[in-house]
Amino acid sequence: MAATRAKTKRAAQGFTWEGVEVLAYKAEGAAPFKDVTRQVLFEDPHLAAQWRYFEVAPGGHTTLERHQHVHAVMVIRGRGACLVGDEVYTIEPHDLISVPPLTWHQFRATEREPLGFLCLVNAERDRPELPGPQDLQALRQNPRVAAFIRV
Ligand code: MN
Repeated sequence: MAATRAKTKRAAQGFTWEGVEVLAYKAEGAAPFKDVTRQVLFEDPHLAAQWRYFEVAPGGHTTLERHQHVHAVMVIRGRGACLVGDEVYTIEPHDLISVPPLTWHQFRATEREPLGFLCLVNAERDRPELPGPQDLQALRQNPRVAAFIRV
């Protein structure tokens, strides 16, 4: 029986990999975000997961959202901050961030450098929910959160 052929993808310049396309984070206009790219590093029918690399350009941010599925994140480039629930954390390379189910989250790069992070998710997952006016009002009860979020 033939062994399964190993596939390797060499790192290219910067935080890119040969054979891995640099994709739009989301369809333009689908949700509010600023200057984010997405690369799918591992996607295999034998895995129930997808492993992605996201990069947020200086001053950029991901979408403020929540969903039932969870994220397991490791920062590998630059610095920034993230909201998880009602806490804002500064983040730097090798930090690990767990985003639990139905928890508001958003990532922002600093103004000076891109923020790059690996993100593990379920291959099959629910669609993200965006905050409505009442959600935003609740989030903004916390001044630190109010100052952080971008919508
Ligand atoms: Mn998410």
